[in-house]
Amino acid sequence: MVHMKKGELTQEEKDLLEVIGKGTVQEAGTLLASKNVHVNCLDEELFIGRGKGNKDITWVMLEAGAETDVVNSVGRTAAQMAAFVGQHDCVTIINNFFPREKLDYYTKPQGLDKEPRLPPKLASPLHKIITTTNLHPVKIVMLINENPLLAEEAALNKCYKVMDLICEKCMKQRDMNEVLAMKMHYISCIFQKCINFLKDGENKLDTLIKSLLKGRPSDGFPIYQEKIIRESIRKFPYCEATLLQQLVRSIAPVEIGSDPTAFSVLTQAITGQVGFVDVEFCTTCGEKGASKRCSVCKMVIYCDQTCQKTHWFAHKKICKNLKDIYEKQQLEAAKEKSEEENNGKLDVNSNCVNEEQPEAETGISQEDCNPKDSVEGERESLQSDAGLECLQDAPAGPQLSEE
Ligand SMILES: [Zn+2]
Ligand SMILES: [Zn+2]
Repeated sequence: MVHMKKGELTQEEKDLLEVIGKGTVQEAGTLLASKNVHVNCLDEELFIGRGKGNKDITWVMLEAGAETDVVNSVGRTAAQMAAFVGQHDCVTIINNFFPREKLDYYTKPQGLDKEPRLPPKLASPLHKIITTTNLHPVKIVMLINENPLLAEEAALNKCYKVMDLICEKCMKQRDMNEVLAMKMHYISCIFQKCINFLKDGENKLDTLIKSLLKGRPSDGFPIYQEKIIRESIRKFPYCEATLLQQLVRSIAPVEIGSDPTAFSVLTQAITGQVGFVDVEFCTTCGEKGASKRCSVCKMVIYCDQTCQKTHWFAHKKICKNLKDIYEKQQLEAAKEKSEEENNGKLDVNSNCVNEEQPEAETGISQEDCNPKDSVEGERESLQSDAGLECLQDAPAGPQLSEE
């Protein structure tokens, strides 16, 4: 690749700048393939200045080999610059990008090794997992479980050792990458948990998924899951790492069962996502954009029926309670709404206000004095998987989606 001094651009590079500015992903890809374009010619401008935080452009650039560790004129990497200007989607992509070649390195014997550390057939499924932006432990176990090549002890053993090597490399290289190191270490820990469960016999990954989802009786909070994530972070082998210290400071004072969860703190640190407003995450696997609500309580949301069925053994114990909470919330919201409306209507409707109020009150108390039989009856019907029959498209209730 012919390249001139930094700052001097070839015609193709100038064209590339223009294309990035317009956000034309396909053209950018074509230009990047040209031998006259040096992908790192544009440093931070490549990601932010012209790209305006366009996720697809960022991805195309990374695929073409843009170096994310290159520090720009003010001493920041692309990810730091993107975070600085609030391009969190770009940060997520940059932080979680791991070129396939770097993994393929381990599929060839190195040095005195007779065998590669990673059997080539495992490179694809492993690469899929290490580039995921959803770090939910259930999702990681699901990804392992759905691939017969991965879901066996010997394969997982090889994979976690390779991830530990990558983690070490990230910490020891000149441009240290604590974020990627932490991610590799965390996924390696989940793999090792899978190995422990697989040792016990067939289908044991399903047992692990259940353990991760099992909630405590009072409110369904998944204690085991929280403990596993905390333990993984604590076991990070480089105790001087700033990121580790930050994580520990955020998590240690939080009692297990309270917010923030270790999962949310870790996700925020690794993906750069701040605040999960107006996006719905699957209760089972943490996947973004889940939209199917439990038709009984309307308080939990899933990707699809598979995720709902996986969670049902735990959710059925609290579904009824959640349903009551949901109904109370709906009543309160309706009450507030009618109060607001009536406040606006002045005296003319004052009679109506007095009539409506007690009705709303009885609505609540009826709920509370439900005859015991009918509560039992409902519980029965819940246990017979009633809630699984139909998932509802969100938003289920008009008030719920706004809250
Ligand atoms: Zn899901
Ligand atoms: Zn429910």
